[in-house]
Amino acid sequence: MAHLSKRADTKLPRKPRLKKYLKGVCLAAVCILLAGYLVPEHFVRPVAGMNDRSFHHESFWYYPWGASVRHKGVDIFARKGTTVFTSTSGLVLYCGTHRRGGKMVLVLGPKWRIHHYLHLDTIAARPYRFIRRGAMVGTVGNSGNAKGKPSHLHYAISTPVPYVWQANTDIQGWKKIWYIDPTPYLLRTTS
Ligand SMILES: [Zn+2]
Repeated sequence: MAHLSKRADTKLPRKPRLKKYLKGVCLAAVCILLAGYLVPEHFVRPVAGMNDRSFHHESFWYYPWGASVRHKGVDIFARKGTTVFTSTSGLVLYCGTHRRGGKMVLVLGPKWRIHHYLHLDTIAARPYRFIRRGAMVGTVGNSGNAKGKPSHLHYAISTPVPYVWQANTDIQGWKKIWYIDPTPYLLRTTS
């Protein structure tokens, strides 16, 4: 018995150490998460030469919207080949081709928001690189399911941290927790 209890005693310190470690990891994760929200979200318009008439002000979350059901972003119309800029500084998460989105770039910006640049004609960004706002990510096109339609940038902002207060009982209303309306940002910014 004495032998057994001795063995148990030697194992005891492991648990608190693991607990302390996990606590540290959690604290670090919370700090990183909060730090992301403290990064200022300076914004520039993502299409060269665009103005308030380049996009429809009520197209975000418009219904019905084909296979997407709801329009999760804003379409900014411009000539094919017009430069597309990153609207905020951030980390390029993805550059590639998607069946519906066509040539696309995803940038992780301040507040953990992901900025989507879809239907591009060409891609200029490189994945896993930090880019400053106003840097070129590509050019306007009509790739993916925009083929045959006027060239435009489908610009969307999503959040991996759910905004639960945005949910409603409308069609796809629960999906609203993942999206932010870019319209006020596009209207507020002049260049
Ligand atoms: Zn669109």
